Amino acid sequence: MVGPLPHVSFADGTRVPALGLGTWHMGETRASASDEIRALKAGIDCGMTLIDTAEMYASGGAEEITGEAIQGRRDEVFLVSKVLPSNASRKGTIAACEASLKRLGTDRIDLYLLHWPGRHPLRGTIEAFEELRASGKILRWGVSNFDTVGMKQISSLPGGQNCASNQVLYNLSTRGIEFDLLPWMAEQSMPLMAYSPLDEGRLMRHPGLGRMAGQLGVTPAQLALAFLLTRDNVISIPKSSSPERVMENRASADIALSDGQLAELDLMFPPPRSREPLQMI
Ligand code: NDP
Repeated sequence: MVGPLPHVSFADGTRVPALGLGTWHMGETRASASDEIRALKAGIDCGMTLIDTAEMYASGGAEEITGEAIQGRRDEVFLVSKVLPSNASRKGTIAACEASLKRLGTDRIDLYLLHWPGRHPLRGTIEAFEELRASGKILRWGVSNFDTVGMKQISSLPGGQNCASNQVLYNLSTRGIEFDLLPWMAEQSMPLMAYSPLDEGRLMRHPGLGRMAGQLGVTPAQLALAFLLTRDNVISIPKSSSPERVMENRASADIALSDGQLAELDLMFPPPRSREPLQMI
């Protein structure tokens, strides 16, 4: 039996597990759908109740898979979805959200993000987010792929103080955000969502990480996730279409890394020593 998952709090006090479920590349073929649904259900069953999706993934297909996985248990889940920047005008954001709600088979999204900075003025996107919030179609909103300068710009706009999160690339191989973005967000009590926490699977082929994981009797994926679980205010969203690997990822919460082991990881994957441009996929 695995132990409890650590939790992270949003500024409004809502608590979510620090380990959730990604859905990129789900919903691309009907043949893989049943495995994907089983994987998401297995994750929910073991407490990974935050699901991250987006209208972009499989052009809505991942939202449909998510909708099937949460059928009959919507209240157990914290749903995150994203609007494409090309849709993020004032009117377009509302239409995109309504289409996402339909595909997800629900009446509300817990956290709705702007997927990355685009050409539509942020002011209009925020107005639309606030309108969606007032009507209950979303419970909170945030952004993705914004650097510290971008985050400060948002908080200076009308309604911008309501930005609840920023989802960025963060894993052992990509630690630049530890220098400025992560501390800035912690100061604002704004959880950071870490996407591609396994570096899209590449970390599993890292020889040093593999060696260290072997010595600890865990898998490289578990070690990479256990590292992120030591960070305050961070929610990781590994994606797996395999229920077995979802369970493997869940068990990363049972690993307690010592200061010495964290120092070993720092040697292999050095933290930033100065400000670095935000990396994104
Ligand atoms: P991840 O870092 O989560 O890696 C996913 C890959 O690792 C898949 O190939 C998966 O294969 C494999 N994998 C997962 N668990 C294990 C395991 N225990 N052992 C071996 N292999 C494993 O990459 P993602 O890019 O998918 O990032 C996670 C989520 O973040 C996305 O799904 C998406 O929801 C979000 N995201 C957001 C972005 C943004 O711009 N906001 C950008 C990118 C991602 P398999 O499925 O076969 O197990």
